[in-house]
Amino acid sequence: MQTDYYREHTIFIESVRRFTQSTLAPHLTAWEEAGNFPDEVFTLLGDQGFLGILIPEEYGGIGGDYKLAGAWCEVFGELCAVGLTTGVNMHSLVISHALSQYGTTESKDQWLAEAVQGKKIGAYAFTEPGCGSDLASLRTKATKDGQHWTINGSKTFITNGARAHFVLMLARTDPSAGYKGFTTFLVDTSLPGFSVSRKLDKVGWRSSDTAELTLENVKVHENCVLGKVGEGWFQATSNLNWERMMLALTSLAGGRAVFRDAVRYAKDRVAFGEKIIDIPAVSSMLSEMSRKLDRAEAISHHALDLLASDAPCKLEVSLAKRLVCDDAVWIADRALQIHGGYGYTKEFSPERWWRDLRLMPIGGGTSEIMANIALKELDII
Ligand SMILES: Cc1cc2nc3c(=O)[nH]c(=O)nc-3n(C[C@H](O)[C@H](O)[C@H](O)COP(=O)(O)OP(=O)(O)OC[C@H]3O[C@@H](n4cnc5c(N)ncnc54)[C@H](O)[C@@H]3O)c2cc1C
Repeated sequence: MQTDYYREHTIFIESVRRFTQSTLAPHLTAWEEAGNFPDEVFTLLGDQGFLGILIPEEYGGIGGDYKLAGAWCEVFGELCAVGLTTGVNMHSLVISHALSQYGTTESKDQWLAEAVQGKKIGAYAFTEPGCGSDLASLRTKATKDGQHWTINGSKTFITNGARAHFVLMLARTDPSAGYKGFTTFLVDTSLPGFSVSRKLDKVGWRSSDTAELTLENVKVHENCVLGKVGEGWFQATSNLNWERMMLALTSLAGGRAVFRDAVRYAKDRVAFGEKIIDIPAVSSMLSEMSRKLDRAEAISHHALDLLASDAPCKLEVSLAKRLVCDDAVWIADRALQIHGGYGYTKEFSPERWWRDLRLMPIGGGTSEIMANIALKELDII
């Protein structure tokens, strides 16, 4: 990590690293193999105050800013289990943050303090079986009846979906109102009509739960509307911008970690009587990886600076998400190559980084969609 960039957060970074490396890292392989990490991970992190970085103090958070959250993403992202780190970050940095920004007093009082403690876990549900990139075509519908809304529909690929106690659910509330026809609801998953249809089996992110959800006549009180009726699309756009920044920083951390492992291996492995790091074909792969990491760091920190200072940054964030997430996959692939046959085994880290980082150019908006956003921001399309 470029220590200079986060110099005001050095002590925080060291304490996160010490805690996560001693408490979580020793269990990651077992959790990946079991296909699940325990809910206790949330309470362990909650006890340390790590789930409340962006949450106001009145709800038990530390009221930090996006730069502190960025420092967290880069140090927490050193753990070789991107499904776990992103599952936690979705809960704390995206979902709890959205609840604290837009939730009614009733919703915040009911959920937020316990979310910060890790006792209640959240999920965010945009994607549906019939639409991901083309989110505006979503079909989950909510209709008003007195003081309640009734929600029907299905959502898929939802991180933390099976374990969540509450889900922020984007639904259509007025088909004739264009982008103003969407509303976000906070749905208590214990309500009648809410069910987890299935858990998805995945290439990577093995310990993270990714679920398909069904809502059949789920009735929620009007105080479960996040913000105001009709604001769902605009909240989603703003939350996704930060979520994409978080995914870029997590990819940067993963790219760096797997690069370090590749350097260590290349310094140790001998072929034809010399360390493979001294073989030009290998050292040139390493220097290309290092060059891409420098570029990834520069572009993502530039976007984070803009985000943290509340400046317009949709262009910079979408470019960072695309470039950093794509490059991290390439770096993991080259790290695997440098490990030769061992790279293809589970004895070394690159195979897991490779599988886990592969999701990053897909989740939170694909690289192709990031390119479209950037072109629109530049008025090219
Ligand atoms: C493990 C995992 C966790 C996830 N977590 C969540 C979550 O917590 N909450 C949530 O709501 N969603 C989540 N998702 C869903 C994720 O955000 C979507 O998969 C992603 O947005 C892509 O949507 P899609 O899968 O429907 O692909 P599609 O939209 O069907 O895209 C298929 C392909 O077509 C391309 N494409 C589509 N439209 C265009 C276009 N206009 N221009 C160029 N190319 C285009 C895409 O780039 C892609 O290559 C998760 C997904 C996974 C796999």
